[in-house]
Amino acid sequence: MRASRFFISTLKDAPSDAEIVSHQLMMRAGMIKRLGSGIYTYMPTGLRVIRKVEAIIREEMNKAGGIELLMPLVQPAELWQETGRWEKMGPELMRVKDRHGREYAIQPTSEEVITDVVRSEIKSYRQLPLNFYHIQTKFRDERRPRFGLMRGREFTMKDAYSFDRDEASMKASYKIMYDAYTAIFNRFGLTFRAVAADNGAIGGSGSHEFHVIASTGEDAIVYCPTSDYAANMEAAEALPPAAARAAATAPLSKTATPGATKCEAVAELLKLPLNQTVKTIALTVEKEVAGKQVLENWMLLLRGDHEVNEIKVGKVAGLAGYRFATEAEILACYGSIPGYLGPIGTKQPVTIVADRTVANMADFVCGANEEGFHYTGANWVRDLPEGLVADLRNVVEGDASPDGKGVLAIERGIEVGHVFQLGTSYSESMKATFLDENGKPAPLQMGCYGIGVTRILGAAIEQNVDDKGIIWPAAIAPFEVVLCPMGMDRSEMVKTEVESLYAALQAAGVDVIVDDRGLRPGAMFADWELIGVPHRVVIGERGLKEGNLEYQGRRDLEATAVPVAGMVEFIK
Ligand code: ATP
Ligand code: MG
Ligand code: MG
Ligand code: MG
Repeated sequence: MRASRFFISTLKDAPSDAEIVSHQLMMRAGMIKRLGSGIYTYMPTGLRVIRKVEAIIREEMNKAGGIELLMPLVQPAELWQETGRWEKMGPELMRVKDRHGREYAIQPTSEEVITDVVRSEIKSYRQLPLNFYHIQTKFRDERRPRFGLMRGREFTMKDAYSFDRDEASMKASYKIMYDAYTAIFNRFGLTFRAVAADNGAIGGSGSHEFHVIASTGEDAIVYCPTSDYAANMEAAEALPPAAARAAATAPLSKTATPGATKCEAVAELLKLPLNQTVKTIALTVEKEVAGKQVLENWMLLLRGDHEVNEIKVGKVAGLAGYRFATEAEILACYGSIPGYLGPIGTKQPVTIVADRTVANMADFVCGANEEGFHYTGANWVRDLPEGLVADLRNVVEGDASPDGKGVLAIERGIEVGHVFQLGTSYSESMKATFLDENGKPAPLQMGCYGIGVTRILGAAIEQNVDDKGIIWPAAIAPFEVVLCPMGMDRSEMVKTEVESLYAALQAAGVDVIVDDRGLRPGAMFADWELIGVPHRVVIGERGLKEGNLEYQGRRDLEATAVPVAGMVEFIK
């Protein structure tokens, strides 16, 4: 590639809405361009990275027996109604109507469509196992699109779906995907961790998330450095009550700061030891129904049904993503509940005198979901605004690991992949069966496997930056090598060497770009450091006269002279 025929458009400053470094740098490096909330054009440099990510995924998926197809973006509502997801997905599912008034979903994933394909195509156990995948645009009307490609509304996902004759075989297919994901994330050159994502965390799990480790990650993940226990926070918290209680025995020291607002108050409150005077809060969520239930759980807890002897509501605070109930709203809903000791705003401190663990308190607060009061593990997470999950945690650093092999550590991660044993939930609701060895119809055993293709870009950058810009791992860099000629228009010697090195690198299969834009060295170097190309070769007369080129790796502090003849080998 020649830079003069490519499109490079860098910015000195990032737009003010870019909160985290990957978003800022992708905007500054001209990799993406915002069209609307959570909707971006993938500019040429960004698209090159996306294509490399996709190529690695495709290679490893094919190696693992995946078969590629391509399912439609726009999918009839009827399919979604069959599984109940038309209702269940709520506002995150983007719906459109055609000119005849027929309804469609824009796919957030494709379980329904692939199950529909398979139920009409697969007749016999002899055709199994199968694993279909595609790399396709997704749309999710996220509550809070943010961080550029990290949480877009339109984004690219690789989603795969496995079909098996029985549970054992489904688990084998799952294991193959788990291993393929490990290979994929290793090839990207990123530091990642696979964590159990459901409450089977101790004895093997039916679901794992793959997280790229980064302090800006939206998820908290829990692991034990001295064993292989690793789970996402929801799974760690959803352990059976006894284990959760055991995990929450570490001394908890904080008290809610008077006047604390938003997340602080809740976070502090939930980490509080009991038998202590605190201020508490009443809250509701944006979703009316869930809000009432959350609030009601608080009220149940507060009014003494659960061994709480005395409670007075002192203060209503705010919480990010939550709309806090006003006193009038709360009274309208709960004013008549016996035991409610309001009114809000009386500013008395709250005294909770009870023999309850913090873990239990979090259970009560989080216990509400759309279906009711029960606490099901990971369900509630979906009903809570993002950002709150970590603040509600009842598992803290230093707790005993559930496997008894050490203590827990917590770090932050970006969920880049998710593998899931679905079992027969979709095949049963959609009547996707096959004939088993005895000629009897049986529901297909399914698994589903997602990778956030475009999210990988953000995650990789969060892990690989310095004050000059991005430092791409070579495997997914937009270009592997940039050739920077000094005075190419003036020097025949430079021109000849640039052309010959360019051809030699291309012949060696290296993805190389020549910066023939005629920029001054400072501006040229700054562009490539910002864009994050891993290898830079400067070709100048002075060096050439000594038979050398100047090489600098993106992480190197200074350049090294490399003999002209050895450069291709040096880079490979
Ligand atoms: P999250 O918890 O971040 O909302 P999710 O659990 O809803 O993600 P899945 O349904 O598991 O996502 O989808 C598979 C993968 O797709 C995720 O692991 C993630 O990498 C990616 N992904 C999900 N939502 C988005 C988004 N809004 N923007 C970019 N990538 C996304
Ligand atoms: Mg999501
Ligand atoms: Mg998730
Ligand atoms: Mg997920």
